[in-house]
Amino acid sequence: MSLTDHLTTRIRAEGPISVADYMSDCLLHPRFGYYTTRDPLGAAGDFTTAPEISQMFGELLGLALAQSWLDQGAPAPFTLAELGPGRGTLMADLLRATRGVPGFHAAMQPHLVEASPALRKVQAETLAGFAPRWHDHVETLPDQPLFLVANEFFDALPIRQFIRSGAGWSERRIGLSNGTLSFGLAPATPQPALAHRLEDTRDGDLVEICEPAAPIAESLATRIATHGGAALIVDYGDWRALGDTLQALRAHAPADVLTTPGEADLTAHVDFEALALAAKTAGCAHSRLTPQGVFLERLGITDRARALAAPLQGAALDNLVAAHRRLTHPAEMGNLFKILGLYPPQAAPPPGLNP
Ligand code: SAH
Repeated sequence: MSLTDHLTTRIRAEGPISVADYMSDCLLHPRFGYYTTRDPLGAAGDFTTAPEISQMFGELLGLALAQSWLDQGAPAPFTLAELGPGRGTLMADLLRATRGVPGFHAAMQPHLVEASPALRKVQAETLAGFAPRWHDHVETLPDQPLFLVANEFFDALPIRQFIRSGAGWSERRIGLSNGTLSFGLAPATPQPALAHRLEDTRDGDLVEICEPAAPIAESLATRIATHGGAALIVDYGDWRALGDTLQALRAHAPADVLTTPGEADLTAHVDFEALALAAKTAGCAHSRLTPQGVFLERLGITDRARALAAPLQGAALDNLVAAHRRLTHPAEMGNLFKILGLYPPQAAPPPGLNP
């Protein structure tokens, strides 16, 4: 039995499934899911991420969070949380960088939200000594001040896709054509959740909604608005995205979305407007959406790179220069990736971000 067999059986029984159902099975099916069964990061894996590119990323995000914590009067105890920590690299860099912040480590309680048993194991090894607590969902995070990072977490959440047809929307579904997985369209129906998109779309335009994203943002925002804290949400995407952004990556190259279910990473761009609106509804303030390159430059990545470069030469120096460029340059990750900060309305935004 493979994931393709499972999906084929499921579609024969239930009829065509939504893109969200397909993504959920591909990424997190208990037996065959992509994240459930492996560590996909790094050179031997399928994709790489900012914290895996350079220690500078986790260090700077950590110091930004610690500065917010100081600005808010150093509340103790507080939850130091990460959503989808991957290998635990970002958290390890954050913890090392914040060792010198007086009181920060004594007051923090590390919590990780992670769905993958395989990655939880890697995180436990990376973060041995810090006794993190794991959660399946954000709802079980403690009700206390919350300082949180999430890098490339929201892009892994399942999206639904709709194509506009008059005042209605046809959902894109995955069915079978001659026994093979293939895309199709459901008949157009009104979609109240897409009412606001009737103003900026035309017939034939494709829009995406990520149903789990807003409740997660709202749950974080409620804690931050009530108890204090800050969230740094980093991902690719934009304010109100338009078009098909579903993509598969395998061995660092684009792959067909339907050909190798469970064997490729599947992501979609994040609709940051939906996260910001959910945060607002919960009484939380949000920053302007800020390009990653701008954010990291404001936090001093170039000075940090210079300090790290001082003792290096040859290939090690070249690697550091390339990593700095990759994280910040507009033609690399600098513009595609963006940061949204959440913070209490009476507090200042985290460093590097504007209201
Ligand atoms: N933040 C890490 C890893 C990004 S990959 C980095 O930057 O390197 C996405 C991460 O989110 C993985 O750890 C994956 O297992 C986790 N994840 C994906 N969907 C999830 C869900 N629904 N709930 C909890 N964790 C999830």
